[in-house]
Amino acid sequence: METSLNLTSKMPGTGTTIFAVMSALANEHGAVNLAQGFPDFNCPEKLVERVNHYMRLGKNQYAPMPGVPELRKKIAEKTLKCYGTEYDWQSEITVVGGATLSLFCAISAVVKENDEVIVIEPAYDSYIPAITLNGGKPVFSKLKYPTYQINWQEIKKLINFRTRAILINSPHNPCGTVLTASDMQELERLTENTDIVVISDEVYEHILFDGLKHQSACMFPGLASRSFIISSFGKTYHNTGWKMGYVLAPEKLTAEFRKIYQYVAFSTSTPVQYAFADFLEVESHYLALPKFYEQKRDFFRDLIKDSRFKVLPCSGSYFQLLGYDAISQQQDYELAVKLTKKSKIAGVPVSVFYHDKTDNKVLRFCFAKNEETLTKAAEILCRL
Ligand code: PMP
Ligand code: GLN
Repeated sequence: METSLNLTSKMPGTGTTIFAVMSALANEHGAVNLAQGFPDFNCPEKLVERVNHYMRLGKNQYAPMPGVPELRKKIAEKTLKCYGTEYDWQSEITVVGGATLSLFCAISAVVKENDEVIVIEPAYDSYIPAITLNGGKPVFSKLKYPTYQINWQEIKKLINFRTRAILINSPHNPCGTVLTASDMQELERLTENTDIVVISDEVYEHILFDGLKHQSACMFPGLASRSFIISSFGKTYHNTGWKMGYVLAPEKLTAEFRKIYQYVAFSTSTPVQYAFADFLEVESHYLALPKFYEQKRDFFRDLIKDSRFKVLPCSGSYFQLLGYDAISQQQDYELAVKLTKKSKIAGVPVSVFYHDKTDNKVLRFCFAKNEETLTKAAEILCRL
């Protein structure tokens, strides 16, 4: 439909997120989709049964704005059990419709015009738009290819009186790296005696391999007292389409967060919240997750070990990075599109996670898939 409106875009230069683009392309060309991160297997039957149960019971109207008390109490218990940190379920825990929304509200709650926010790249693609829409200025530190470790000396140099927040993400999407206790202590030291807010994206908190333990920001008192901790049930319970998660933060930060959240969404799906309140008790589900995904990681890596790809380390998350400079010198975005159309395998070009489109000739593949899917994908990758 034509319009005569004269619009100045609030987000000039912004296109459609890579996940929507690659999934649409994969569907159109019948490619194996290891691009967008989602499992191709179902979530636990008991969870489905619980949602149905609460729908039939009539739990179908608005939930309280911060989430149903039953679920917030269970989140407080689980956090204490996993990380030894107490959060008050009434004033420090908010149930939110997914981590993307949590990140947006947390950033909106603290970032004002001209505030600087430290973004460590490659970075999940929703961070920068949320900062700039609020008038903030992202300042960047790059993880050095191919180890993708944080350069804390560089971060230290970026900190000044304008620094409002820093975003961290562990286990990391897309790199599969994991922050250690000494990384967290370094951040604790760097932010001591500052007003810097830490936004800690921990959506893959239960997906760590080789015996590594998740170092939540909430385990470090100097960080917990200045952090929004962003969690997502979608990754832990294999139901990314339910878009449900929560935010942990000290009361003062939570109050500011809720001022925004109440007018962006108000609340999120009531029967799903009740279902999670029941299912969070099933510890065995999340305790089994590291082995469950480690097996998938190893299965996939083993199938492609003789391919011409460089298989980079993966300590957490459900993403495997593959370097392709022995195969092609094409720009990663172009190659990802070509592989989807011609070879029928879809991955994500890692350059999309950098503001300056840094291209190290690396593609990201999601291994949260059945063995049949991974086998099909590996067969294609080995032929390239
Ligand atoms: N942060 C990271 C690092 C992610 O990988 C994702 C999605 N995979 C999100 C946030 C968003 O999660 P949600 O689907 O709960 O919005
Ligand atoms: N976070 C998922 C990924 O990295 C996708 C999320 C989305 O599609 N918005 O692939």
